[in-house]
Amino acid sequence: MQEFLTAIQSGATGDELAAIPLPETYRASFVRREDTGMFEGLASEDKDPRKALHVGEVAVPELAPDEVYLAVMASSINFNTVWTSIFEPLPTFGFLDRLGRESAWGARHALPYHVVGSDASAVVLRTGSAVRLWKPGDKVTVHCNYVDDQSPSAHDDSMLADNQRIWGFETNFGGLADLAVVKANQLMPKPAHLTWEEAAVNALCNSTSYRMVVSRNGAAMQQDDRVLVWGASGGLGAFAVQYVLNGGGIPVGVVSSPEKVQLLHDLGVEAVIDRKAAGYRFWKDEHTQDESEWRRLGKDIRALVGEDVDIVFEHPGRQTMGASVFAAKRGGTIVTCAATSGYMIEYDNRHLWMKLKTIKGSHFANYREAWDANQLVCEGKILPPLSAVYPLEQVGEAAYQVHHNLHEGKIGVLCLAPEEGLGIDDPELRAEVGEERITLFRRHGA
Ligand code: NAP
Repeated sequence: MQEFLTAIQSGATGDELAAIPLPETYRASFVRREDTGMFEGLASEDKDPRKALHVGEVAVPELAPDEVYLAVMASSINFNTVWTSIFEPLPTFGFLDRLGRESAWGARHALPYHVVGSDASAVVLRTGSAVRLWKPGDKVTVHCNYVDDQSPSAHDDSMLADNQRIWGFETNFGGLADLAVVKANQLMPKPAHLTWEEAAVNALCNSTSYRMVVSRNGAAMQQDDRVLVWGASGGLGAFAVQYVLNGGGIPVGVVSSPEKVQLLHDLGVEAVIDRKAAGYRFWKDEHTQDESEWRRLGKDIRALVGEDVDIVFEHPGRQTMGASVFAAKRGGTIVTCAATSGYMIEYDNRHLWMKLKTIKGSHFANYREAWDANQLVCEGKILPPLSAVYPLEQVGEAAYQVHHNLHEGKIGVLCLAPEEGLGIDDPELRAEVGEERITLFRRHGA
């Protein structure tokens, strides 16, 4: 892969890249099938991604006609890599085996190792025979919606496809590696004003938040809507608050430290709650919630933005869902895509039905939504919340940081890119958007 890197750095043409022979193996981060029982009996927080994530050489798989090989310049840590590396709630090898039974090309994925990672900024090296719109040399980012477009179920909203998967989580050959294999319909243009690592941290969380906040498949936020955003300086939340601001809404960000409060203020979010300082105890004990604490949250929100929120951007799950259902205004929407603190949810249904609220499930984004969200990054209207950068060799430590909520925004991972700061093709746009704004999270994380 070093030969590809040298060629990319010296500005090789697509034809020149296509003439370089592919290696037989590549460096990748992966979990091993034989390790899936290694954390049995441990509490979630004691399961250590550093023990389960390995970096080593794996075989380059064959390329299907609708796929491309990518030289991955940078990638990012998503929470799904944390889940894979602690084998929760299930080992991801079950997903690979199911894909393996689906087709001859799918069978490539069912391996003794799972190459993880659901984000990438990259350069196209080779295209399969059926690829029409992309060519070697194209600089791209990758969205993770892996869809079999021969299934009729994929042709309404592709997230409704019956065999929809997340690349690098429910498929093999993910982005935390020097090479990746993706379908051509996962590719999007790389934002030219961003570095490789800035460009790599957006697609998964940005697209997810776009669907949840903006899309008619999500909460379809209107101007002046109040939106409560949990984890507002985290991976999803950092994009969600930007969408609320861009769309003329009023975000109420919830975070857990004074530093994160300041970061959100710097991003332009005025109404911020420090949940640690507020000391909410939504659960009196493991089995009982405390409605008076929900009321206290509601009061705090009204003190900041004058009224109850139209939308709650929900993902912490068990710890917060009761409060979220309570806090949404009459007719409001709770849009949820996750359950970090537990997926067996409890809320008081009276608050839902009597006040005509809606709980809306959301999951990643279809290609259209991902493309539109990427376009906003390309235009500098959505900023990359990159706060820290690790080399691929330290992918376990990077995942550990996210697992233990020690990070802000997104953590980038350098794959082929030898250092930070490379890959900017449009310095004029960068200057126009503003170096200070683009690097806001990085300076906070430094
Ligand atoms: P992240 O970067 O770790 O951010 C999550 C934030 O949530 C944290 O920064 C933390 O912020 C807050 N949080 C954590 N536990 C909390 C709790 N018990 N109560 C209140 N707030 C809490 O992770 P992320 O990338 O945003 O992902 C969040 C979740 O969404 C993960 O479970 C992930 O797997 C899931 N996800 C789902 C999709 C999908 O398509 N379905 C896509 C992306 C992510 P503070 O400590 O500052 O409050």
